[in-house]
Amino acid sequence: MRTIGFDLDGTIADLDVAGKFDLHYWLSRKVNINPKDVTDDNDRIVIISARPKKWLKATESWLRMKNIRYDKLILLDLPIPSHTDLSWFKQHALAKMDVIVKEKVDVYYEDIPQIARIIDAVLPFTKVVRV
Ligand SMILES: [Mg+2]
Repeated sequence: MRTIGFDLDGTIADLDVAGKFDLHYWLSRKVNINPKDVTDDNDRIVIISARPKKWLKATESWLRMKNIRYDKLILLDLPIPSHTDLSWFKQHALAKMDVIVKEKVDVYYEDIPQIARIIDAVLPFTKVVRV
């Protein structure tokens, strides 16, 4: 059994950077990649997202609505990416790596190139797939 990790926004869910990050935004996302299309039935699926914890229920509803099977959902409650402070992706990468190590993630899907590169460089035992 492998553990497969997925970022959520821009990876499982489509991303609209111009969107206003409210309840309607989270619930109106379309599916970009469904984990079942890139995993085996016995793989463990862990979703690792920077989303605020206050959107946990909305996120669970959306995943249910879209028939996305997963074993664990972790919302890291990280600051929303800033166009003026480009160090945000380092913070996101570090927080995600903590989970990747703890959950023993074998393969991790990520859409942000800078985050994918950091994780790939720091964690040699996790295969990083850039979406
Ligand atoms: Mg993303």
